[in-house]
Amino acid sequence: MFTAINRRSLGQLPCLAQRFHSTLVIAEHNNNQLTPITLKAITAASKVGGEVTRLVAGTNCAKVADQIRKVQGVKKILVAQHDCYKGLLPEELTPLILATQKQFNFTHICAGASAFGKNLLPRVSAKLDVATLSDITEVKSQDTFVRTIYAGNALATVKCNEEVKVFTVRGTSFEPAAVERGSAATEQVASPSPAGMSEWLEQSLTKSDRPELTSAKVVVSGGRGLKSGENFKLLYDLADKMGAAVGASRAAVDAGYVPNDTQVGQTGKIVAPELYIAVGISGAIQHLAGMKDSKIIVAINKDPEAPIFQVADYGLVEDLFKAVPEMTAALKK
Ligand SMILES: Cc1cc2nc3c(=O)[nH]c(=O)nc-3n(C[C@H](O)[C@H](O)[C@H](O)COP(=O)(O)OP(=O)(O)OC[C@H]3O[C@@H](n4cnc5c(N)ncnc54)[C@H](O)[C@@H]3O)c2cc1C
Repeated sequence: MFTAINRRSLGQLPCLAQRFHSTLVIAEHNNNQLTPITLKAITAASKVGGEVTRLVAGTNCAKVADQIRKVQGVKKILVAQHDCYKGLLPEELTPLILATQKQFNFTHICAGASAFGKNLLPRVSAKLDVATLSDITEVKSQDTFVRTIYAGNALATVKCNEEVKVFTVRGTSFEPAAVERGSAATEQVASPSPAGMSEWLEQSLTKSDRPELTSAKVVVSGGRGLKSGENFKLLYDLADKMGAAVGASRAAVDAGYVPNDTQVGQTGKIVAPELYIAVGISGAIQHLAGMKDSKIIVAINKDPEAPIFQVADYGLVEDLFKAVPEMTAALKK
């Protein structure tokens, strides 16, 4: 009976269709540890329904595969180990994903909407000749997803009719899957011949004792109002007192005050901490797109008309050069 049903008729048979859904989630990791967004992508995949399979590709990734085995909701882990997966280059991962897709015929393929996922999945979609749904914030059903448009000012509910639905998942919109009580089976998959188009040489990561921006519970962000890179020290002192990460507006990044990996916003990182403190930031829509889902927003700005106050839960109309040292001093007590 099941073999008589083709994919096109599945839409009219929701309960049977449920049996056929299978989502491949591409793991992002550094051979030692999964990135937190990968656990959130698993949650999104579980909401699609059907089986969730993880693909872990790397040079020496047994430890990561072991970690995923414990993740709730994962049925199977496909492991591919080869030197060519060093640095997880999309040029090398794409042929692997295509070969895996050919073998298992997944209905959905997803990854976190991080630099890794954004780099990889459009390439996979192009090869499969389907569209990518980028940065989804909600799964309504196996073919209907929500994503933001107009720099986060509107939500679009999108129905995807592609045979294989390829999507990236916004990390701040999903809870991480629990790393407990999982019992996924592991299967080794063969690696296709290396594409050899590019080679991973090295990466230089900013070293910081502060928490990582996208997973920090508290973020202190500075804007053009800080006036110089040296003045960001005021924010570093405050952040260190609060165990916070430091972010910035694009204007502060473009002016060279801080490195571009600190940029929050539409073209920067999306954050949703428990507490977001915006200092000397006007609140342009492109900045709000990256932080307005924060649980509590505090704004410090000397201009009472600054748009940031429209989204702030607490606003302080004050000169930041007075307010920030006072806050830091108060925390020292
Ligand atoms: C396609 C596109 C993508 C973009 N992507 C992003 C993005 O990802 N992230 C982003 O942030 N922006 C982005 N932008 C830029 C965005 O439009 C704004 O230009 C930028 O966010 C402004 O940064 P700002 O608030 O630091 O600077 P400003 O708008 O210049 O605001 C500075 C604020 O500091 C206040 N201030 C000044 N001095 C003091 C003081 N002493 N005490 C207290 N307050 C003070 C001022 O009142 C003002 O409100 C994008 C723009 C475009 C067109």
